[in-house]
Amino acid sequence: MKSAIPFISRKPLEHQQQWLARFKQLLPDEHVLLANDIEEPIRTNCEFAIVLDPEPSILATFNNLKWVQSLWAGVESLIELAKQQQFELVRMIDPKLAETMAEAVLAWSLYLHREMPSFAEQQQNKIWIQRPYRPAAECNIGILGLGELGQASAHKLIQNGFKLSGWSQTQKLIGGIDCYSGPQGLFKITQQSDILICLLPLTPNTKGIINSKLLKHLPANASIINFARGPLLNTDDLLAALDNKKLYHAVLDVFDQEPLPQQSPLWSHSNLTILPHIAATSSPQTAAEIAAQNIQFYRKSGQLPTTVDLQKGY
Ligand code: NAP
Repeated sequence: MKSAIPFISRKPLEHQQQWLARFKQLLPDEHVLLANDIEEPIRTNCEFAIVLDPEPSILATFNNLKWVQSLWAGVESLIELAKQQQFELVRMIDPKLAETMAEAVLAWSLYLHREMPSFAEQQQNKIWIQRPYRPAAECNIGILGLGELGQASAHKLIQNGFKLSGWSQTQKLIGGIDCYSGPQGLFKITQQSDILICLLPLTPNTKGIINSKLLKHLPANASIINFARGPLLNTDDLLAALDNKKLYHAVLDVFDQEPLPQQSPLWSHSNLTILPHIAATSSPQTAAEIAAQNIQFYRKSGQLPTTVDLQKGY
């Protein structure tokens, strides 16, 4: 008999039930169950799990897993457990997720490029000033991270007339994008980006990468978009750069602590736009289908799709 597949998530129960119903539809021959519905003694029989932002300590109670399918693209919170309990980690690679992220990147790049924060402020103060138009072709956008989401976003921005550069761990050659790598590459992309967008994974090497050292090399009136993970950006350094009028604006979708605490100074800063981690959410339609295909393929062949490199952390 096939072992049960736990579905482990911190999301509200109603949200979890939606995913569960979708998995029941896609995997009628499997027993996909909420973690609580699998008794402790038989958790050890489970070969693999499906997770959506799980509590690592609950995932740890399934102590004999071969692999874990994440429905999220970012898996930094599971790396340590995967090393300790020696399971493989499969992250979500979904073209639909990349498309959704690209749409968000375009939307908020246009928001900054067309100076919407300034017009909102003018309206509040009943000020009528026509600011000069600058074409997208004169706006340099730099993307940190040229993976699934970074590349999809870069192509969307190119289609909309922006000038693009990107930075990655390994040097890339991508049509229409000035590609950089290494510390010197980071310096160059920063120097030329009117809008710098972060789509890096959170790893020991990328934590705090957007800090005062980097921010001081941006051109005057540049903006930041962080759609990756909160700890990639040093919040105090960002606030200092905004207060010193070194930066025009920042759009933040991700934070060190989520939900962003009520007492955070970020909420009320006039040059910040705060979003509640909505840039690109995994879809029960497409992401569940990809996870189900991975499981069916594994059941047939014993083979896993591409797994996360636990040493690199992404
Ligand atoms: P990915 O495919 O793994 O791409 C990661 C990119 O970052 C790669 O280009 C990689 O370089 C580069 N990179 C990693 N470490 C680096 C370093 N030390 N120096 C320079 N470049 C480095 O990841 P993805 O699917 O695009 O996702 C990116 C992140 O987006 C996720 O990890 C997640 O945190 C975040 N995310 C946020 C949301 C949201 O709603 N806000 C939604 C989904 C995902 P190489 O190509 O050379 O390996």
